[in-house]
Amino acid sequence: MSAYPTVRFLLSANHAQQFPGDSGVEVAVAGRSNAGKSSALNAITQRQGLARTSKTPGRTQLINFFELAPGRRLVDLPGYGYAKVPPRMRAHWQELVGGYLETRNSLTGLLLIVDCRRALNDDDRGLIAWARQRGRRLHVLLTKSDKLTRHEARQQLRQVASELDGGATVQLFSAVSKEGVEEARHALQALLENKKNPVVRLTEPPGQTNPAWG
Ligand code: GDP
Repeated sequence: MSAYPTVRFLLSANHAQQFPGDSGVEVAVAGRSNAGKSSALNAITQRQGLARTSKTPGRTQLINFFELAPGRRLVDLPGYGYAKVPPRMRAHWQELVGGYLETRNSLTGLLLIVDCRRALNDDDRGLIAWARQRGRRLHVLLTKSDKLTRHEARQQLRQVASELDGGATVQLFSAVSKEGVEEARHALQALLENKKNPVVRLTEPPGQTNPAWG
């Protein structure tokens, strides 16, 4: 039985116009390609094959929306850090994902997937800084913990926690051994329930005044 019995794939978007309606709450899942994002999503939702896993870095360039329950979504952002793609594709990624992050009102928090054998990279740090700036909560999953010894995994956890300095929460996770899966579900739930600081749109609809602009 899935932790989310009615979980279902909603749609893939290549442009902002294809995003589903911006109501309810959603948590976006980000991470560099091959970090183990799809495997983590499948383990958390207990639906093998919900998110596609792949050995090809950067194969999935779309934003994939899943409905966990009515009005609650999980959003699989395309993996970043794929240095080999042509600049044109990189620019499209930035426009698509940047546009999503900047305009999405229902986005309550982010799950950041990091391979526990690697340190945070500049893309990870950029996302963490963005989340802090915009008042979005962020939880880090240090995935593939089964690939390290207990001692190494704890050390890595301590190091990332100290770098995050209280600005985000972090845990060990493995889609293989299932370490931390329950903890990740709780974290996801907490992110979904903490809606705050709705996005202030930088453009006003014609004929309306936005009180936030004074
Ligand atoms: P994505 O590109 O971030 O979606 O990563 P995937 O979920 O497709 O995983 C990339 C590779 O890492 C695949 O070969 C997975 O089988 C493997 N992988 C993912 N999670 C784990 C894990 O927790 N433990 C181990 N040992 N391998 C994993």
